[in-house]
Amino acid sequence: MPQFKNDKCPVCGHTGYAKIGKSDLGTVKIEKPKEAWVVKCKRCKAIFANPMPVWSADDFAVLYNVEYFPPAKSFISKRWESHMSMGNTHRRFKVIQKYLKAENKRVLEFGAGVKAYMSKFLYAKGWSVTLQEPSKEFAAVLRNTCPHFEIIDSDFTHHQTHYQKITRYSLIYADSVMEHVHNPVDYLKRCAELLEPGGIFYFISPNEHSLKNAVKNIVSKVRKKPTPYIAPYTQPYHLVGFSGKGIKLASQKAGLLPVKRITRYDYMWWRMFEHKKRLPLSLLIAPLLFLVDLIGWGTNQEIILRKEI
Ligand SMILES: [Zn+2]
Repeated sequence: MPQFKNDKCPVCGHTGYAKIGKSDLGTVKIEKPKEAWVVKCKRCKAIFANPMPVWSADDFAVLYNVEYFPPAKSFISKRWESHMSMGNTHRRFKVIQKYLKAENKRVLEFGAGVKAYMSKFLYAKGWSVTLQEPSKEFAAVLRNTCPHFEIIDSDFTHHQTHYQKITRYSLIYADSVMEHVHNPVDYLKRCAELLEPGGIFYFISPNEHSLKNAVKNIVSKVRKKPTPYIAPYTQPYHLVGFSGKGIKLASQKAGLLPVKRITRYDYMWWRMFEHKKRLPLSLLIAPLLFLVDLIGWGTNQEIILRKEI
């Protein structure tokens, strides 16, 4: 059974917040509050579930099992998969090379899911790889598909806390993980402890402050539907949406330096030009999306934090 916390912003610790809307409670079989809200922190503008669910191990197993990732059946989802595995990984590696100041080639990917694209890419380049995955089912898949990697399924915030000598990493990587945790600052603090000086924590998370969400939220309000923000009780079960200011405040608490924040419309770009019939509309929308990306309203964000030397 989960615990429900109802106190402060999980990113900056501020107690003032404003309600955005009620969450859809969905149909998944877990304990839920009678009323679930999505709220926005008045200081850092982080968006978060209120009350904030802290999942038990049993709840976690219900939410994150092999049904979480649907198989890529359609042509579009296969192309998206290819974009995620190849395009994003190559592009992000260039960013990593630009900001990384640590020497060793050790990566820790936490919340690795079942794909771990970046870690596989780095392994092929001679890096040593540790994958952390708290879902037992996902970890079992990884043990089958990645026999050369160290795979751990214990809680990330306690990774190596019982060791006398800590193995430090030059890169800690988390793709679509930080929005699932109720205690992101604890995760940042553990990253700071596990990084080598000059090492970076690279995380990718949806940009809840996107133009797309703002438009969807207006439509939901007009139709008197639950808010589309984060969706803590419906798949994909996100709990927190980070703002640029929130990331800065949380990084300071953890002793990490924010060196880059990239907001992008990301994978949707190429889909616009896939259907020839919609080409005129796509050509019309493309400049708008370019502007949206430029001013930081894209649907995705990539954050690079560094442990200073
Ligand atoms: Zn806040």
